[in-house]
Amino acid sequence: MLLRLCRWLRLLGYPTVSAHEVVDPKRVEDEDAVLLEFCRERDALLITRDRALAERAPRSVLVRSDDVPGQLAEVLAALGDEPFLDPDESRCPECNEPVRRVRAENPGPFEVTWRCPGCGKTYWVGGHWRDMERVIREVERRLRGR
Ligand SMILES: [Zn+2]
Repeated sequence: MLLRLCRWLRLLGYPTVSAHEVVDPKRVEDEDAVLLEFCRERDALLITRDRALAERAPRSVLVRSDDVPGQLAEVLAALGDEPFLDPDESRCPECNEPVRRVRAENPGPFEVTWRCPGCGKTYWVGGHWRDMERVIREVERRLRGR
């Protein structure tokens, strides 16, 4: 599964649904058929490591890279997009809802935070943001190297 890639695509603002959120493991059904129908109905881009599945989808990206920067570069290249990290455009990595900027009532170290209306999680631009920016720079480097 490409769960880390899914979380990153949400952070970059792409509405992204993971296969395990589409396929019900308790029901016996053809998982590939369920995913393909989901993508067809929504004109969604299918991102997969499965070559045969990718070939059956109307729009797909076959992921070959094993790390997140490489995977992001592959998807963004297919979309013709540049990586762009903006918390106001981000979606919640947990549940895919667009996050909303909120001003803290009792400002702690972070005056501005972002809250997910879906799951209630709060996000802020802290030290981890620099790590994320490092990943984005690596994605840019890989895109230029293509
Ligand atoms: Zn959420």
